[in-house]
Amino acid sequence: MNGNHVNGDATLSKQPTYERIQIINDEKQFTPELTHQVERWGLQNAGFDYDIVAVFGSQSTGKSTLLNRLFGTNFDVMDETKRQQTTKGIWICKGKAMNVMVMDVEGTDGRERGEDQDFERKSALFSLASSEVLLVNLWEHQVGLYQGANMGLLKTVFEVNLGLFGKKTADGRNQRTLLLFIIRDHIGTTPLANLQATLTADMQKIWESLSKPPELQDRQLSDYFDLSFAALPHKVLEAQRFETEVAELRKRFVDKSREDFVFKPAYHKRIPADGVAFYMEGIWEQVQSNKDLDLPTQQELLAQFRCDEISSAALAEFAEQAKPQRRPIESGKVVEGLGGMMQNWRTAALTRYDRDASRYHQGVYKRKRADLVSVLDSTISPLFLGQLKNLHKACLVQFKDEMHQGMRGEGYNFADVVVKARERCEKRFLDGAKEAIVEGTDWTYEEEYGLLQQEVGSVANQCRKDETKKMVNTIERNFKKQISEPVELALNLPDHDMWDKVLKAFRDNLTKAESSYLTRAKSFDCTDEENETALASLRKRAWLAFRAKIDEQTTDAAFLTKLRTYFEERFRYDENNVPRVWRPGDDIDGAFKKARDQTLELVPLYARIHPVDPSLEYTLPSETSDSLTEAADDFDFPATLVIFTETKILDIMARFRRDADAYYVEAKRSTVSSVAQ
Ligand code: GDP
Ligand code: MG
Repeated sequence: MNGNHVNGDATLSKQPTYERIQIINDEKQFTPELTHQVERWGLQNAGFDYDIVAVFGSQSTGKSTLLNRLFGTNFDVMDETKRQQTTKGIWICKGKAMNVMVMDVEGTDGRERGEDQDFERKSALFSLASSEVLLVNLWEHQVGLYQGANMGLLKTVFEVNLGLFGKKTADGRNQRTLLLFIIRDHIGTTPLANLQATLTADMQKIWESLSKPPELQDRQLSDYFDLSFAALPHKVLEAQRFETEVAELRKRFVDKSREDFVFKPAYHKRIPADGVAFYMEGIWEQVQSNKDLDLPTQQELLAQFRCDEISSAALAEFAEQAKPQRRPIESGKVVEGLGGMMQNWRTAALTRYDRDASRYHQGVYKRKRADLVSVLDSTISPLFLGQLKNLHKACLVQFKDEMHQGMRGEGYNFADVVVKARERCEKRFLDGAKEAIVEGTDWTYEEEYGLLQQEVGSVANQCRKDETKKMVNTIERNFKKQISEPVELALNLPDHDMWDKVLKAFRDNLTKAESSYLTRAKSFDCTDEENETALASLRKRAWLAFRAKIDEQTTDAAFLTKLRTYFEERFRYDENNVPRVWRPGDDIDGAFKKARDQTLELVPLYARIHPVDPSLEYTLPSETSDSLTEAADDFDFPATLVIFTETKILDIMARFRRDADAYYVEAKRSTVSSVAQ
């Protein structure tokens, strides 16, 4: 009921005359065209902002003529010359310049002819189930003819009404309808008020004569109907007056501000305009098959049908919008602003659904809405999950990059690098994940976030391990360099405290190595346990490097050279380090024996790492495995203290003796040759 209702005749004539449509043909079939017709009338989006009016009355009482005058419709009017009408059916047309659908019932007057009362009853049912206002058209001279055809028709209407609307609606009110009596060919000798009183009394009588179901015994006519009255002069005899009074009557259908405006909200059947066609068809089907017409069920069916349609339309648009984002997500991209987009599509779909569907049966509307929400969410939830996954990957890659950038060059603080890179990574993820969440869903990113944190942790750990390993390697290399000279030096000057010197050099350098590790390790955030294993590994590697240096210095050749040098220094040089020249009578044997025995004493000295000062004794736990290389080996520390085994000692001694013997022979020869000179 909008402004269009208030239109004078001047503008009315300029309005287009609307196409009418026969919704029920003479074979009692319902047209499949009504939906389209409603669209063509431009009413599909009218919601509840439209009205329906229908007409009752005997054959040829000028019903169609009246409707055409009142609403600007173009229903067929009986041809004056033929004075017969054979068609049957129900027509519907939109009123000119008003959101009103007008129903005209055509048909033979079954009651008068004693035939087809069936169609009359069915069309009454059909009209009542959808109309707000029923025009009851009758000649003035029919008023008071209680037994007349009109009264039979009204009895039908009342009966039908009890069946349809006897029970109260869900919100506890009665479904009301306005009966507007139009008294035709009113001569004027009997005032309208009198006719009105007669008709009202007749209605009351009819009502009382109805056989009502027991639970509706005490219901009054006024519980369901409002009665209203109008009279029109003779169309032919008082043509001019007829036209002005019809125009006056029209105002009651268009001017909302009038007190006698007929389309009161209470009469509206609450079928949204876009559902009228489906609803009417359902009603007709029920009526046709003579089933009890259960309006609440009809309304629910209508709601189901329409809510499904509206939901599908909303969903189709939504799916169209979501589709282009699927590929980038599947290919691993983080789609900028995805959450905002999804939010918009979702809101738009629901707004659209709510706008159209909320007019229907609330239970159905809400149920279908929940269904729609779950389909919407299940459509975009893979996008959300994909976005999280891609975000996770991207953040992890960036984290790794930042770690490597941060660890470039010397002197960085590892812990700092990790903390900063992690903070940025987590923030990036959380920002992205929060953006992707759509309001109204139960989506969370906690799980993905937990996974990311774990992976960031293990990447950081791996970096730390790699860095620690590199650092330990560097320290080990340095240690090797440092230890080399002191070990060589000490092992070349055999003395009783030779091992003390060697071990002291080892210990000093190891202490340096350890403290250099600890200084660097501070920034690595290593646990005490990790430091302990790294240090243990360092100690073991240092020891092995140290031992390797000793091995290098005590190979057979090197060691025999050492022995020879030592021996020569004692046998071929005197106490003042002056080369000896043997003369006959010199105690070559004594000197040889002394030098040889002194030299042989070195063998057991070198054979085992054994300091004089017990505090310099070094020991390592045997089970220490190198945690940094993860190389499993069986390390037997006490065995590493042994340089020469017993057999080796005997072997070396024997070899040395042979060397020494050669020196002895040479010395002897030199005296002979000097004698010979
Ligand atoms: P319907 O069968 O009730 O739809 O009646 P129609 O509108 O087809 O009209 C039947 C006949 O009654 C036609 O010949 C009309 O010209 C005539 N008619 C229409 N209105 C009036 C009226 O107000 N008074 C009289 N006497 N005849 C009318
Ligand atoms: Mg007619």
